[in-house]
Amino acid sequence: MSIQDLGACKTLGDLSSIASECTACKLSRTRNTVVFGEGSLSAKIMFIGEGPGATEDATGRPFVGRAGELLTRIIERGIGIPRSEVYIANIVKCRPTVNQEMKKDRPPEPEETMACTPYLIRQIQIIRPGAIVALGGPSTKFLLKTDEGITKLRGKWGEYQGVPVMPTFHPSYVLRNGGDKSPLRRLVWEDIQLVMKRVGIPSGK
Ligand code: URA
Repeated sequence: MSIQDLGACKTLGDLSSIASECTACKLSRTRNTVVFGEGSLSAKIMFIGEGPGATEDATGRPFVGRAGELLTRIIERGIGIPRSEVYIANIVKCRPTVNQEMKKDRPPEPEETMACTPYLIRQIQIIRPGAIVALGGPSTKFLLKTDEGITKLRGKWGEYQGVPVMPTFHPSYVLRNGGDKSPLRRLVWEDIQLVMKRVGIPSGK
């Protein structure tokens, strides 16, 4: 099966094995691992980030670097459920870097997004989460088909193929803007609480 007929792909396992051999864009030439995504098939909440960083590229798992630690805290301490109960994926599944030295990451380019998102679309269709949290600009832009900035869009519901989408700040952006002391943390938490309410997870705080 090829990327053209992913619609016929019925399971995440089949989809993942096709993705593991993908050469649809130039990121395939510099990746170590395809970071397909991970989590529960019956996830109520799906988080969608930008693309793998160095740690993700090395391990094959999404959000396991510094930004991942913050996301994991949001899920486990904030929402109050194990990380394994949500689903976590990215717009692109191979690490985008500024050059061949592979030191500095960058957002995915439009052609990379176009080449890779058929996998994400199928992941969303198979999982059908109760809500998607779009982490940062690239995933918000893709899902909501908008060029509006994340600061304007965060905290307001959108929709992708009938699934409610809540845009919020990317954990890396929060870390770059004050980290634990960032005022953005409160805004992210407000957005997450809206998501919890929507999918029926009671807030203990
Ligand atoms: N790690 C990921 O998997 N995705 C991001 O967007 C950032 C870090």
